[in-house]
Amino acid sequence: LYTMRKNIVAGNWKMNTDLAETQDLISGLKKIAKTSNAEVIIAPPFVNLYSAFESVKGLDITVAAQNMHQSDSGAFTGEISASMLKSIGVNTVILGHSERRAFFNEKEDLLAEKVNTALENDMTVIYCFGEELKDRKFSEHFEVVHKQISNALFHLDASAWENIVLAYEPVWAIGTGETASPDQAQEMHAYIRKTIADEYSENVAEKVTILYGGSVKPNNAEEIFSKPDVDGGLIGGASLKAEDFMAIVNAF
Ligand code: PGA
Repeated sequence: LYTMRKNIVAGNWKMNTDLAETQDLISGLKKIAKTSNAEVIIAPPFVNLYSAFESVKGLDITVAAQNMHQSDSGAFTGEISASMLKSIGVNTVILGHSERRAFFNEKEDLLAEKVNTALENDMTVIYCFGEELKDRKFSEHFEVVHKQISNALFHLDASAWENIVLAYEPVWAIGTGETASPDQAQEMHAYIRKTIADEYSENVAEKVTILYGGSVKPNNAEEIFSKPDVDGGLIGGASLKAEDFMAIVNAF
């Protein structure tokens, strides 16, 4: 339908699934990818990425990390670098998730550094952002989203955008069971695309994949994905059940 850009359904497993559960969940996804029009991505926890990468061999599923450090290596106890991820075959990373922002105090200057490191390592970045409920109450949601995108990404050259995927996730809709309505999602996605067109070009804006995230479920995915500027979803809770995730992937 929208030949200019990719449709993507990505599962953000967050801090869920041990080794056995990772393997089980992936075997539950074996039927997934062949029929769908969307690229399928899963993001298990770091410790199971290698196993996940082995398990998805032969399937059309990309394995992504949920985060990474901005430095290449060194004395950063407990952290994971881009080159470590690349060495096990992981070329995609989620950055800026609202839980990283809220619980780990990640700010946009840091996220800009992480984005740079990922791109220098030829990785694809899924950059997450989204307003809080109070922002929407005060009608500041467009302004907040504008800042979240511009602060972390507008230093990039137009060509870098080929490796950027955006994920609009209104914080009030994450894990709450409350989704943005399809019209609210479309309104914000159109605004995001216009913001990118204004800063770069129509061409860059038309090509960038913009995912919606926040309580996407099998029963609402199709309507949300049918909106012209919504190119897929970043799925939390519903990505932990193979059946639900497949239903969402197949909503395309
Ligand atoms: P949810 O999470 O689908 O459980 O709301 C989405 C996300 O945080 O990426």
